[in-house]
Amino acid sequence: MKPATAATTSLRQAGVIGWPVAHSRSPTIHRYWLRKHGLAGSYDPIPVEPERIAGFLRSFASSGFVGANVTIPHKEAALAAVAHATPAASAIGAVNTLWLEDGRLHGANTDAEGFLANLDQIAPGWDGAGGPAVVLGAGGAARAIIVALRGRGVLPIAVVNRTRERAASLAERFGDHITAHDWSELPALLGTARLLVNTTSLGMAGQPPLAIDLRPLPAGALVTDIVYTPLETPLLASARARGLRTVDGLGMLLHQAVPGFELWFGVRPEVTPELRAAVVATLGAHK
Ligand code: NAP
Repeated sequence: MKPATAATTSLRQAGVIGWPVAHSRSPTIHRYWLRKHGLAGSYDPIPVEPERIAGFLRSFASSGFVGANVTIPHKEAALAAVAHATPAASAIGAVNTLWLEDGRLHGANTDAEGFLANLDQIAPGWDGAGGPAVVLGAGGAARAIIVALRGRGVLPIAVVNRTRERAASLAERFGDHITAHDWSELPALLGTARLLVNTTSLGMAGQPPLAIDLRPLPAGALVTDIVYTPLETPLLASARARGLRTVDGLGMLLHQAVPGFELWFGVRPEVTPELRAAVVATLGAHK
């Protein structure tokens, strides 16, 4: 990736492409950094209906934007549209960050590095002893988490999912040390786990809670949830009540935004307590 230089950043326009996209916290994050660094760029929601996404991305170079984040449901369409994808984006099968380079559309997926940077910041050394890790869920976010953990050598990874075939297809896609399991196998898997990651939407406001018995987990295990509304999900609350280390999912969202901002605006921003507080203030009842 070739970041913009500070001299070229004035009035650069970026945004987040999604449908719907009004709920996205990305404008709060990027506008905070634009203000903090005194940059004249802009960052706005870019609503694009599914029927229009292919055409919108085809003509992105003439849209006036220097780049964009991509969110649900367009991450796979963005991968299909780019002239060049980073290895992580290709491995994950989705693009969440777009930029123009030499007039061509490039795409990255920064969810894996966002996930790792969050754990590194809040629980330094978390990966020192490697796996086993247990990943709950087998959707889009699970792919990013598996790529992240595999890249750090946190293996083996047990993928546990309601629909077993989806877990099996991830195990097949990502290699030897990744196995697929039913929920019924969870107690045995937790017994030796060093890391438990929830990537399902369970526990999110408006969804059923993720109710699992954490008693089998070893005392030194780390529990993290990528759901961040509420910040303390029922899973994290029950892990904390057991005295286990926990990391919430908001930091992943904040850290995944860093590479895009640097590419578009030429400054590598930091994830600070002030930024986190600015985003927490938008969570309303879900703090
Ligand atoms: P997705 O592709 O739709 O996958 C959803 C996953 O949740 C699937 O594994 C699904 O299982 C499981 N699930 C849903 N309802 C369930 C239920 N009632 N019982 C058991 N399992 C259930 O979604 P995604 O894109 O991976 O996102 C998942 C969550 O991660 C969302 O809450 C999203 O907001 C969050 N997220 C956070 C960040 C961050 O930066 N912190 C980044 C990305 C995503 P089946 O396969 O059986 O349907």
